Amino acid sequence: MITIDGSEGEGGGQMLRYSAALSLITGEPFTITNIRGGRKKPGMMRQHVTSLEAAALIGGAKANGLAIGSSELTFRPGAITPGEFTFSVGTAGATALVLQTVLCPLLLAEAPSRLVIEGGTHGMAAPPFEFVERTFLPIIERMGPKVSIKLERPGFFPRGGGRIIVDIAPAPLRAIECMHRGAAKSVSAKAIVAGVPSDVADRELVAARKVLSDWPEDAFAPEQLPADQGPGNALILAAEFEHVTEVMSGIGKMGLPAEKLAKTAAKRMAGYLTSDAFAGPYLQDQLLLPFALAKGGAFTTVKISEHTRTAMDLIERFTGIGFRIGETPDGTISIETAA
Ligand code: AMP
Repeated sequence: MITIDGSEGEGGGQMLRYSAALSLITGEPFTITNIRGGRKKPGMMRQHVTSLEAAALIGGAKANGLAIGSSELTFRPGAITPGEFTFSVGTAGATALVLQTVLCPLLLAEAPSRLVIEGGTHGMAAPPFEFVERTFLPIIERMGPKVSIKLERPGFFPRGGGRIIVDIAPAPLRAIECMHRGAAKSVSAKAIVAGVPSDVADRELVAARKVLSDWPEDAFAPEQLPADQGPGNALILAAEFEHVTEVMSGIGKMGLPAEKLAKTAAKRMAGYLTSDAFAGPYLQDQLLLPFALAKGGAFTTVKISEHTRTAMDLIERFTGIGFRIGETPDGTISIETAA
């Protein structure tokens, strides 16, 4: 039984989700206390409960303490059973983070799975749909498995109501080297609005262009969705290279000026573009679990995040597999699986 203090390190939901995934993969039970102890509103929120329920369901696990507001949980894993599942967050809680919890265990299963996940697809502090589709899953596919994802309906904060469908064809995860992003291929800035005045999208695109001034004018485009899919607003910036596509996003909320949202997202993209790294700040922590399961591989990245340090600690505690942080000859940070 592994005991985890959920307030240590990054202190958020990732510790809970990764612990559940690692527990299913290793067969090791765990107890976590002070769940999300590093957050303003600690304890499990609806989306964490759904993620853990999903993990328990696909892994025949017994979970004590699985409830909204709960700050302590004990999880005893069973056998991973692939199949068809529907998980519904019921709020705008992130569908991508439910997927983050169950994907790696299902990648190692003996048969394919189909997941329908309902909730948010474009919310704060979580991967937007485009990041999962264009940034994260292509790398998983390079490692062996086939995973396709479809956005049936977007779900914005606070209403949710989004729906994604994920088809997973498992295969052993192969170690890969992701040291270079390769040649630049395309860039795009898409300002999505649903039930929100269209000038919000236009203002975001103008503000993003000021920062990303060398992107061509036709890379910037608004996208108006039917009003009944909102209210919602998201700015999705994508830079496609030969070996990786990075997606940076800004998500609208009441009181956040469109210009500020766009400037923040564009600066994050500009920061990534000025580095030579393969993985941006979010892809970095999300690659660790698949790379550990592949028992090898390496990638270059930007400044190491607290999410990454926390995930590294957890992975090492469950699997004994560590990571080496180094520097490439051209000064980029590298992370190498030390199996
Ligand atoms: P936590 O804050 O502990 O719930 O974990 C959030 C997870 O979502 C981490 O794996 C982050 O890398 C990921 N994440 C947060 N914001 C973004 C974003 N804008 N794009 C992609 N991934 C994100």
